[in-house]
Amino acid sequence: MGVYALPDLPYDYAALEPHISGEILELHHDKHHAAYVKGANDTLDRIAEARDQNDFSAIVGLEKTLAFNLSGHILHTLYWQNMSPDGGDRPAGDLATAIDEHFGSFEAFSGQMSAATTLVQGSGWGVLSYEPASGRLLVEQVYDHHGNVAQGSTPLLAFDAWEHAYYLQYRNVRPDFVKAMWQVVNWRDVAARYAAASR
Ligand code: MN
Repeated sequence: MGVYALPDLPYDYAALEPHISGEILELHHDKHHAAYVKGANDTLDRIAEARDQNDFSAIVGLEKTLAFNLSGHILHTLYWQNMSPDGGDRPAGDLATAIDEHFGSFEAFSGQMSAATTLVQGSGWGVLSYEPASGRLLVEQVYDHHGNVAQGSTPLLAFDAWEHAYYLQYRNVRPDFVKAMWQVVNWRDVAARYAAASR
């Protein structure tokens, strides 16, 4: 067993249909997420070896590989929890109040989040984060799994914009996949994460 482990999906592969196909979810979780977990564990082992041998000649590549795989693991773990067969609609309570305060309205927030996800160049994510220095919510456009991120911010809601997240079902039409994402958002999970981050 490595340091990191692949979490079980909190629902069946087909539970998010018709919005996200069971085929996508099975491959995405069992193959893609699993590869990030293995990559993070393997890279930690290689960094420990380098430390043992006092040979840091490959440290630049190892640190970059760790950031990529570990961030992939963290974001996918969040992504599965952020979705639910009973999801959709919009948030309530303190999270809804904070979204109104920091974005103007839910519609303004969802427009920005959709654009950030849809317009990722290459592979990446649209992420709603809590930024502790200001106590504000931010939308971040993440490159790969780990680039273009404000240090210290806590991701609360992540939309995966990698082609593996939608291509088998939505082909090249990423905007339709992003529309579908709004139908499965588990706002109870996002609200709990906001409460914990902002406490
Ligand atoms: Mn993914």
